[in-house]
Amino acid sequence: MTSFPSKGRLLYEGKAKRIYATDNSDELLVEYKNSLTAFNALKKDTLEGKGELNNKISSCLFKYLADNGVENHWVRQVDDIHQVVRSMTIIPVEVIVRNIATGSLVKRLGVQDGLKLAFPLVEYCYKSDELGDPLIIHDHAVLFGWADDEQLNQIKAICLEVNRLLANLFDRLGIILVDFKLEFGLDSRGRLMLADEVSPDTCRFWDKETMAKLDKDRFRQDLGDVLGAYREIWARLQRHFGI
Ligand code: UDP
Repeated sequence: MTSFPSKGRLLYEGKAKRIYATDNSDELLVEYKNSLTAFNALKKDTLEGKGELNNKISSCLFKYLADNGVENHWVRQVDDIHQVVRSMTIIPVEVIVRNIATGSLVKRLGVQDGLKLAFPLVEYCYKSDELGDPLIIHDHAVLFGWADDEQLNQIKAICLEVNRLLANLFDRLGIILVDFKLEFGLDSRGRLMLADEVSPDTCRFWDKETMAKLDKDRFRQDLGDVLGAYREIWARLQRHFGI
């Protein structure tokens, strides 16, 4: 952990994070909140310690990705609930990568829950709380100017590389990476980069031995011990990386 940057104006408050300006125009300060939401914020709760766990898990995973060649917005963790990131203009397209069918894919297409997919499925959603993040195709994003063709191709390639790296890491931790959501942005020089967070709020993790859910599905489905699951993910990452 390093020196705490100046905490400037609150620029944005989302469901799980607050974003503040700093005295460096290229950097922002992200505060991870304890709030937990699901079903487009219809279900809400606060869990003491959740923000700290997600800040630590996300910092660890962004560092692992950067160390393995996936450039991203994470700069450094500054304390338990804050991290510094590069300032980015977020592309309003959420990308979901799936290795196993579950969640909205099963609801939408009626395929078997738990079906192992023959290759990773990459889906795009339009980032809009008002519309409930509807599923879109590549051409919607291009037509409506959310991202261009080249950016979308780059995004898909990065998503597949992130999936390869994270699936491999979690496999070594005894965890199946079921699916996850990524967001991308453009920095001040127009460079496309992975952004947002990678945590049990945005990924599905199943224990390889017991198939227990170790992610936000414990909250969505009222399975109990949500924080225990997040703690387990962090404990296994700490053991693996010796932190
Ligand atoms: N996800 C997310 N934010 C969203 C929607 C989905 O982080 O707004 C993540 C979710 O945690 C899961 C993956 O993306 O790891 C796929 O979610 P799915 O489409 O199955 O949605 P859900 O079942 O949560 O409605």
